[in-house]
Amino acid sequence: MHKAVKLAAALVLSAAAASSAFGQSIKVTLLGTGTPILNINRFGISMLVEAGGQKLLFDAGRGVAMRLHQAKVPLKDLDAVFISLMNSDHVTGLTDLYASAPLPTDDGRRTQPVVMYGPDGIDNVAAGLQLMLKDNNRLRLLQQETNPGAIRIEAHTTHPGVIYEKDGVTVSAFLIQHGVTQPDYGYRVEYQGHSVVVTDDCTYSENLTQHAKGADLMVQSVAIASKELEKADMDYASHFYSYLANPATTGKIFTESRPKLAVLAHISLYSRHGIPRASMDELRSRIAEHYDGPFVIGDDLMSFVVDASGVHQLPYDANAKFKEPA
Ligand SMILES: [Zn+2]
Repeated sequence: MHKAVKLAAALVLSAAAASSAFGQSIKVTLLGTGTPILNINRFGISMLVEAGGQKLLFDAGRGVAMRLHQAKVPLKDLDAVFISLMNSDHVTGLTDLYASAPLPTDDGRRTQPVVMYGPDGIDNVAAGLQLMLKDNNRLRLLQQETNPGAIRIEAHTTHPGVIYEKDGVTVSAFLIQHGVTQPDYGYRVEYQGHSVVVTDDCTYSENLTQHAKGADLMVQSVAIASKELEKADMDYASHFYSYLANPATTGKIFTESRPKLAVLAHISLYSRHGIPRASMDELRSRIAEHYDGPFVIGDDLMSFVVDASGVHQLPYDANAKFKEPA
């Protein structure tokens, strides 16, 4: 077993131990760790960050409402949604969140506006959702299945710097590098001296590593074509590597940022010419060639807690993503 893998495994705590200090902690749940590429094992990119009694959602990719349901988080309880990039895979889950949260269910129903932050264009997303569901809202108001409060959306355009502050929880945005696709934001959440950095689609930039430096937990995207595919068609792989961190670049980002624990999500796995996607073992070993700290290859519904004792991965059931919640 590689040193980094052993270190990561050592960070797994019992649920009881991790939850004992939860009041002063930050909890991060990877809801979806996939990409626009259809994959039944990895839903679209989305992460839930819980701190100070608040539930903050970062990106809202395909299936986010389903994963929140499996994580037993009522849709009505989301305080705010932060979008990093206006590409479809970061926003397609918003439709379900917006439409389903006001419904009268066992989880209760939302009566407050959806609050969302995102790059230029987030107001178009808000207006588009409301237009798309205008007649749904009209009908459900008649049926008393929604309410005037819940069909409103408050959209805020993200800018670099602090964009959200509430009861000791702070969210700062910073620009990250994604080729010609700009602006693209990473977010840093701080609470009680703890910090979590989430960065989606991006490759290396100094601005990224400076803002991520010293974070307790860092969630980072990665793109990989297998060595076999790179050998067969490097032009194909290079196109993606020009704006998404490949394993070597990801290792460099982690080496400069030095989070206490790094986690991979938004994992792009390429296949072509009949050559299959890289295995998780290949992904792990190729990052470990460039980074000697602890890191975890994230999976849907995996959770982590940052508290006074450090960063801990909660026990993970790989089959949970295929089941109704217990
Ligand atoms: Zn993306």
